[in-house]
Amino acid sequence: MVYRSLLLETALQADKIYRDMGDLSNASYAIRFAASYDDIFMVLSGMSNLEQMEDNISYMKDFWNQDYYYEIHTEHNGKASDCIKCGMCEEVCPQHLEIRSLLEQVAEVFEGEKA
Ligand code: SF4
Repeated sequence: MVYRSLLLETALQADKIYRDMGDLSNASYAIRFAASYDDIFMVLSGMSNLEQMEDNISYMKDFWNQDYYYEIHTEHNGKASDCIKCGMCEEVCPQHLEIRSLLEQVAEVFEGEKA
C-alpha cells in the first residue's frame, strides 16, 4: 500500500484545478498571486530553460486574474454579490465586522459591480 502525504495530495489537487482552468502554467498562478498584492514591489521567478522564460514573459503583464480567485475560492460558496444583506453574519461576528459593507467592496473589486 502506498501512502501519500497530505502535502502531496494537496499539491496534486491544486495541479488538477489549475490544469482544468486552462493552458496557463502552475507557476503563472503562483507568481500572479504573489504579484497581485498592492505592497509587493517585485516578484522574482526562477527559470531553467527557454520554455520557462517564454512562459514567464507571457503572463507577467497581467497579474490580476479575478476568474482565478473566484474559481478557486467560491466554487461552493457563491460570490460576494450573492449576499442578500440579511445581517445574520454580523449579529454573530466576534470581531464585529461590517460584513455586508465589506462584501459590497469585494463585489466591486472582484466583479466590477456594486452589490
Ligand atoms: S448578510 Fe451575511 S449572512 Fe446574510 S447573506 Fe450576506 S453574508 Fe450571508
